[in-house]
Amino acid sequence: MSTIAENIERVRNNITDAARSSGRHPDEIRLVAVSKRFTTDKILEALGAGQTLFGENYIQEAVEKREQLPAEAAIHFIGHLQSNKCKVAATLFSMIETVDRLKLARGLQRQLEARGTTMDILIQVNIGEDPNKSGVLPDNAEELISGVLPLDRLNIRGLMTIPPICRDEDEARVYFRKLRILGETLRQRTNFCGNMAMELSMGMSGDYRAAIEEGATLVRVGTAIFGRRPV
Ligand SMILES: *Cc1c(COP(=O)(O)O)cnc(C)c1O
Repeated sequence: MSTIAENIERVRNNITDAARSSGRHPDEIRLVAVSKRFTTDKILEALGAGQTLFGENYIQEAVEKREQLPAEAAIHFIGHLQSNKCKVAATLFSMIETVDRLKLARGLQRQLEARGTTMDILIQVNIGEDPNKSGVLPDNAEELISGVLPLDRLNIRGLMTIPPICRDEDEARVYFRKLRILGETLRQRTNFCGNMAMELSMGMSGDYRAAIEEGATLVRVGTAIFGRRPV
């Protein structure tokens, strides 16, 4: 079995290769180490190997881990966020990747206003129109973005997606490409990223190379770093 540090090195090398082979600079891509259900020990091990960005799916778990982690560890929220968890969510994360409805955005806006802070967010898109997945449908994304744009505490930095379960990387690639094209279209229509580069969070352990070739700027990798997730 390889160590977490070795796994991180391997994933980083793969990111570099996928970036170079598609004419991109490796620095355009950030690795989110998805640590859900792994103990804080494992996160600290990854931190020791230079990995400072993590992804968490559950609020209560994130609260406990945040208390045990040093400030240099940043956490993106990548799970389904319930509207009644906005208050605590506003305090924990450097980015919330899963904003998929206006009610949630408004709840976050209220809490951030009360705290006097802002939050970077991504709009989660259900790019495969999979009835079992969260995320705004592609056809409704423009309306959602138009509703979120006036909320001055939220900075929309781009889009995130979890594609339907695919047989292989090439099947997933079609969805990644769709997300990028949708992002470019939405950007032209709403100017939602302003002058900033648009973030595309897509790709997990099985398909992050294909996602990078299709334009991912954030890849969310768990198993390939931490091993099999405890149930
Ligand atoms: C668990 C999870 C991941 C990581 O999946 P792996 O296959 O373990 O790399 C990525 N994104 C989301 C939203 C997840 O819930």
